[in-house]
Amino acid sequence: MVTYDPEYLQQAHKASIFHKTQIEQSDICGCFYCLGIFYPDGILEWTDQGNSAGETAWCPLCAMDTVIGSASGYPVTDRDFLIQMNAIWFPGSDDDEADEL
Ligand SMILES: [Zn+2]
Repeated sequence: MVTYDPEYLQQAHKASIFHKTQIEQSDICGCFYCLGIFYPDGILEWTDQGNSAGETAWCPLCAMDTVIGSASGYPVTDRDFLIQMNAIWFPGSDDDEADEL
C-alpha cells in the first residue's frame, strides 16, 4: 500500500472544487467520499454555477462535492489514495457508523 503525504492529500482537495474544465479534460474521475471511480460524462450535476473560479462536480454516485479528475495529476484511480483522502477529510466516517444519530 502506498502511503501519501498528508500535505499532498491536503493539496489534492483543491482539485475537487471549481474544476469543471479539468474534469472535462480527464479520462477518469474518482470520489474520495464514496471511493467510486467513474467517467467524467457520468457527472450530471454541477454546483458553483456562476463562480468565476469554475463549477464543481457532484459525485454521480454519492452526491458529494468530492470528485477529482485524472487531469489534475492526482492518482484518482488508486484506491489507497481515495481511502487516505477520505480519512483526512472525513475522519471517523468509516468506523463509527453504528454511532450515527
Ligand atoms: Zn462519491
